[in-house]
Amino acid sequence: QLHSMQLAGILANKVFVMQADEKLARSRAVDSGVYQDLSTEQFDGLYTDYTRNLSQIVPLFPKQIVRCVDANREDGDIWTDVQAFCRQPPTSKAPRRPMRVAVIGPTGAGKATQCVRFAHRFNVVHISTGDILRDNVKAGTELGKKAKGFMDSGALVPSDLIVDLVKDRLTKADVKKQGCLLDGFPRAPDQAQAMVDAGLKVQRMLLIEVPDETLVERGCGRRLDPETGDIYHMKFKPPPADIMDRLVHRSDDQEEAIRNRLKGYHSQIDGIVPYFKDALVKIDGTSKPDEVFKLVARASTRW
Ligand code: AMP
Repeated sequence: QLHSMQLAGILANKVFVMQADEKLARSRAVDSGVYQDLSTEQFDGLYTDYTRNLSQIVPLFPKQIVRCVDANREDGDIWTDVQAFCRQPPTSKAPRRPMRVAVIGPTGAGKATQCVRFAHRFNVVHISTGDILRDNVKAGTELGKKAKGFMDSGALVPSDLIVDLVKDRLTKADVKKQGCLLDGFPRAPDQAQAMVDAGLKVQRMLLIEVPDETLVERGCGRRLDPETGDIYHMKFKPPPADIMDRLVHRSDDQEEAIRNRLKGYHSQIDGIVPYFKDALVKIDGTSKPDEVFKLVARASTRW
């Protein structure tokens, strides 16, 4: 949901995390009538989900806009805290000039994880061509119908379908004001050429690099739980034994498919990099996401 907000250009100025003890939260929820039909067990399940989601969502916001509020107190006291924080002027570490950064890298390099974090940390509009295309496929638009076959086979969508769309998105008011993060664009030399032709410069082009053998290992071990949509990895995030039988090893995660995709990726990237020599920073994508993000953030705030 946070990702969808971000893609729609909805970015929070302040984030309040209301912290109440579970017992108190339960009694409030029941008293308010919202959850009056829930059993204690159902409420506990909701509460556990909430806590788990929260621990993943909060770190995605810039630290300086998050305020934890002790919600075990009376309404009036809580409100005083909330108001005081709302009155503080917004602080942002983002550089003044609207940032325009592109992130490129092979499938499996962790691009999506880094981009979601980046857009929140620097309050920029996240433009993911993959997401735009998937939305169009889902909505059954003309573009979606044309793109679907290419996407299903793991091929690139022809550039003429995507270039104008990106150019148009970059002229919108939110991008002009807040800057943007291009995720998955440019993905082919003619897209890089189109950017140059249109005078679309980026301050940074971050290339997340991971050796092919590591990408093959990451990809081959991936398993999808078709019931929950959860993704596991046989080595790095082993699935529980009781769901093992239903896990799916997707065809595009088989070694041959991955190696083919990588071959295509390398030939495209070699043609893209020369266009962005001055802006290019290579990022080592082999360590943990937190470590990679430190490199990404450092490279993006110094130019
Ligand atoms: P992604 O989510 O970035 O991996 O993109 C999913 C799919 O969308 C890719 O496999 C391509 O088929 C297509 N796609 C995304 N971005 C582009 C692009 N800039 N040019 C061509 N095809 C793209």
